[in-house]
Amino acid sequence: MNVKKTTYVIGLTGGIGSGKSTIANLFGELGVPIIDADVVARQVVEKGSPLLAQIAEHFGTEILTPTGELDRAQLRQRVFQDETEKNWLNQLLHPAIRTEMLNQLSAQRAPYTLLVVPLLIENKLTNLCDRVLVIDVSPQTQLTRAAQRDNNSLEQIQRIMQSQVSQKERLQWADDIINNDRELADNFIHLQQKVLELHRFYLTLAGKTND
Ligand code: ATP
Repeated sequence: MNVKKTTYVIGLTGGIGSGKSTIANLFGELGVPIIDADVVARQVVEKGSPLLAQIAEHFGTEILTPTGELDRAQLRQRVFQDETEKNWLNQLLHPAIRTEMLNQLSAQRAPYTLLVVPLLIENKLTNLCDRVLVIDVSPQTQLTRAAQRDNNSLEQIQRIMQSQVSQKERLQWADDIINNDRELADNFIHLQQKVLELHRFYLTLAGKTND
């Protein structure tokens, strides 16, 4: 990492609908700070930001809502199936998101911080992390849960899954794994227990590193 290290970093990742937010919340309940890449991705293009100005210059001001916010649905449409525009946007956003995540990490003083990044592996961000925690579910579970939550078609979910690394490849990056296939109603206590175990383990690791 190219900033002064003030906190041990656990990268939490998993495919669409795997339960990243659900499990990050359990760490949050234990007082662990969470930096969420999706939140950071919105912060870097907030109203008045230099990046939003560049986006409006490139795509035209019709990419903004009447109140000057980024019109995300429209931006998605503009880059959908246009590789050149998608690459232009990614080359603008990815470095900014990475820098902002590093800034937020360097402001942390907790023993460890959870960095929740859906595309941690795909976007080659594992080098920001001291350890990688993968939330693992079967592709079937992903399909069912993501379709239920988003009211999306199975085909749409499948397309997103195909744009992400496979379950097998994701697991190859894992230092730690939480399996989240079982229904929460039957498994909540076990999940809480597993999170608490990892929490204690991470505190020990962080203590060794940050001393
Ligand atoms: P995404 O990356 O797609 O935003 P995510 O990995 O953050 O998703 P969540 O939003 O935590 O996943 O979970 C996806 C959906 O599945 C949510 O509706 C959540 O309530 C539900 N869910 C998560 N874990 C379980 C579980 N063990 N049993 C039943 N439902 C679950």
